[in-house]
Amino acid sequence: MNSSDGDSRPAPSVLPVSSGERPDLRSFHVREDVALAGRCGNVHLATGRTCILPERHPGSCDFVGPEDANGVAR
Ligand SMILES: [Zn+2]
Repeated sequence: MNSSDGDSRPAPSVLPVSSGERPDLRSFHVREDVALAGRCGNVHLATGRTCILPERHPGSCDFVGPEDANGVAR
């Protein structure tokens, strides 16, 4: 009897990355993908909108919806 010994190991379980917000971190949040695109990236927590003005822009933030924010983030 010459059966091939198939080594069927179970796939390593990957822990799911928690994407939950941590309200204890800061009073405001910066979207990393938007910030890495050279934008301000500040998130208005009350509305969940994101500022996509250039990084360190003068004046106040101009928050846009998630679709526009996704447009500048790669
Ligand atoms: Zn801003």
